[in-house]
Amino acid sequence: MEKEPVILVVDDEEQDRRWVHEALEGQYTLIDAPGGKAALSELNLRGNISAIILDLVMPGMDGFDVLSELAKSPEHADVPVFVLTGQKEDIFEANALKLGAMDYAAKGIRKDVFRLRLANLLKRKASMPGPVQESYDDLTGLFKRNPFYRLVEERLKAGEGEYDLLAMDVSHFSLINVQHGTKEADQLLSWIAEAVRKEFGKDLVLGCRLYADRFIFLMKKKVYESKLVRFSERVLSSYPLETDIRVKFGIYEITDPAQDVGKMCECAYSAVNMAKDHFNLEYAFYSEETHSHKMGEKHLTDNMRKALNEEQFQIYLQPKFDIDREQIIGAESLVRWVHPERGIISPEEFIPLFERNGFVSELDTYVWNKTAELIADWKKSGRPVVPVSVNVSRSDIYSMDILKVIPEIVEEHRIAPELLHLEITETAYVDSPAKLAEVTDVLRKSGFIIEMDDFGSGYSSLSMLGKLSLDILKIDRFFIRSLEQDANARLILEYIIGLAKWMNLSVIAEGVEGLEELNTLKRMECHYVQGFYYSPPVPIDQFNKLVDKVGTCVMTEIEEKKRQKDLLVRDASEGQRSMLIVEDLAMNRAILRDIFSGSFAITEAINGISGLEYLLNGGKCDIVMLDINMPGMDGFEMLKRMKSNSDLADLPVLITSQISPKEKNRLISLGASGFIAKPYTKEAIEKIVHDLLEEA
Ligand code: C2E
Ligand code: MG
Ligand code: MG
Repeated sequence: MEKEPVILVVDDEEQDRRWVHEALEGQYTLIDAPGGKAALSELNLRGNISAIILDLVMPGMDGFDVLSELAKSPEHADVPVFVLTGQKEDIFEANALKLGAMDYAAKGIRKDVFRLRLANLLKRKASMPGPVQESYDDLTGLFKRNPFYRLVEERLKAGEGEYDLLAMDVSHFSLINVQHGTKEADQLLSWIAEAVRKEFGKDLVLGCRLYADRFIFLMKKKVYESKLVRFSERVLSSYPLETDIRVKFGIYEITDPAQDVGKMCECAYSAVNMAKDHFNLEYAFYSEETHSHKMGEKHLTDNMRKALNEEQFQIYLQPKFDIDREQIIGAESLVRWVHPERGIISPEEFIPLFERNGFVSELDTYVWNKTAELIADWKKSGRPVVPVSVNVSRSDIYSMDILKVIPEIVEEHRIAPELLHLEITETAYVDSPAKLAEVTDVLRKSGFIIEMDDFGSGYSSLSMLGKLSLDILKIDRFFIRSLEQDANARLILEYIIGLAKWMNLSVIAEGVEGLEELNTLKRMECHYVQGFYYSPPVPIDQFNKLVDKVGTCVMTEIEEKKRQKDLLVRDASEGQRSMLIVEDLAMNRAILRDIFSGSFAITEAINGISGLEYLLNGGKCDIVMLDINMPGMDGFEMLKRMKSNSDLADLPVLITSQISPKEKNRLISLGASGFIAKPYTKEAIEKIVHDLLEEA
C-alpha cells in the first residue's frame, strides 16, 4: 500500500520528470502525467495526491490551464501546486501564483533546495484546514459516493462523449475478511483500485468506492469490454494471496444522461448480482428483466429468516440407484422452500442468493440436522437405513466451524458419520484448495463419506482429484446430457471412470433421464446413478414408499473401503498389552484412546463387523471395550459371536454404554465381563480395566 505522500509530476519532457524522480527518490510515491489532460484524469482517480509538481509550457493543455481547472473544481482546489518550469520571466511566476500555485522555481534549481522547498510546502499545507480529503476514500484514493455522483452528473451534463457505469464487487469479500483479517482485506481493496487504474487507463474517467468492496466507475463507452475478463482472470491472479481473487462487473449503459445518477448506479449494481449468479460470468449488462428478477430476490431475502423459523424449508429426497440391481443405495437431501404464496420454490432460485448474503450456512445447518434426524428416525422405527448426502456450500467451509458443527450433528442424533455423506461442489476447490483439502481430510478421517458434486462442470482440474480426500465423484448432469450427441464427451467420461477406479473412487452419474444414457453408462461400468430416469426428488414419505417397493442395497466399494478404514491399528510395542475399542462415535473412541494410549496398544473399530473381523484375523487383543448401539453389527451381536468362538471366548469384554437393567441381564448371559456407563471418570474406568485383567 502507498504509505508515503503521493506526488503528481506533470511535465511533457521525460527527462525533466526523471530529474524530479532523482531529486525526490525514496521519500514519496511519484505518479507521472505527461500533460495537462493526463494530470486531471489522474486527479479524478486518486484522491490521495498530496501535491502537484507542474510544468508550465506543455503542448495541448498547459500548466496555466491546469491551474485554472483546479481552481474551478471543489475536489481539487486544495491540492498544493509547485510550479517547476524552464520559464525564468517574472511575469510567468506572477501569473502562476495568481492562479493559485503555492511555490515556484525555475528548472536548474539545486536538488536539495527543491527537496526542502517541497517539504516546506507540504508542511504548510498540512497545517491548513481543507475539504480535499473529505471527497476521497482514504483506502483507495477513489471518490466517495457524493462527490462521485456530482462529478458524473456534471460530466454527463457537459454532453461530451458517451459513457457507461461499471460497478465492481469482489467475490466472497466477507469470507476474505474472515479468513485473512481486515488488514489483509483492506490491502486487497487498495491493490485492486490501483490495478483497475492501471488496466483501464484512459477508458476510466471517474472512480468511486461506495463502501466495503463495492466500487463504481464511469467509463468511456464499451471500449473497455474486452479488458473485463482479462482483469478478473489474469490481473487479479497476480495478487499474492492463497485465495483465488475474483471480481464481478455489472454494466449500466447510459442512454439518458439526465437520469438520476444514484438510480443508474443501483442498476449497475443489480447487474453485478446477475453476474454473481453465474460462476463463469465475469460481467453482466443491466436489463429491465434482470432488475425485476432482483426485486423478486429482495422479497426472498426479506422473508428467509421467518421462513426458517416457520419450517417452510422442507427436505426432498432423490434416490441414488445401483443400475445392476435396480435398488436404492442412498439419497440426496435437496431443500425446497414451500412458500405460502408462491408455492414450491426451487433451490436454484434461492441457494445462490443465500450464498451471497450468508444465510446459506444457517439453512444448511438446518438441512443437515433434519437429515440426521430422518436417518435416526429410520433407525428407530426399524426401517431400512441408507446413507443420505447433504450439500455443503463453499461458504460453509469458511463461515462456520464446520469441523465442529457436522460431527456434533451426527453425535447428537446418534447416527454413524458414514450415513451422512457430504457433497462438496467442485467450485469450492477453486476458491481455496488448501482449506478444502484440510477440511475434507479431517471429516473423512472422522468417518464421513465425501462426494465431489458437479464434477466436470468445468472449473476444476483433474489434478484436484489427487489433492483431495474423496470417496465418490458425482458427474455433473450437463456432462451426462452431452453424452448422446458428443463423442468426445463419451471418451472423456470413459477416461474419468477409469481414472476414478484407479484412484479407488466410486462414480455416481447425476441427471440421468433416459434409457439410452443409462445403457451408455452401464457399458462404461458406471454402476450408480441419480436422475429423473428413476425418480425426481420427492417428499420423505414418497421416498419411503419407493424404498419399500424396490428395496435397498449397499455400494460395495464404499463398504469395502469402510472396512479397510475402520481398523485403525496402532503399532503395538513389544510386551505392551493391547486394547480393542469398538465404538461408532469418534468422540467416545477419542476419550478412551486418551485414557489408555499410555498403557495399551490401541486398535479402534467403528462397529461390530470390523471389530470381530480384527479378532478373527488374529489381531492382538487383551481386552475389548464394547459399545452397544452401533450401525451394522451392534454390541450384542458382536459379544454373542465372540463367545461362540473358542479362541475369543475368554477375552474380557467391558461394556461401555448406558444400558437398561433388562439389557444388562441379557449381556451378562451373553458373557460380558464388566459394565461402566458414560460418563465415567478416568480413575473409575482405569480401575475396572485393571481388575478385569487381573481376573483374566
Ligand atoms: P445438486 O446438488 O447438483 O443437486 C442435483 C440437482 O439436479 C437437483 O436440483 C435435482 O433435482 C437435479 N436433478 C436430478 N436429476 C435430474 C435429471 O435427471 N434431470 C435434471 N434436469 N435435473 C436433475 P435441485 O433440487 O433443484 O437443486 C439444485 C441445486 O441446489 C443442487 O444441485 C445444489 O447445488 C443446491 N441445493 C439444493 N439443496 C441444497 C441445500 O440444502 N444446501 C445447499 N447448500 N445447496 C442445495
Ligand atoms: Mg448435490
Ligand atoms: Mg450435483
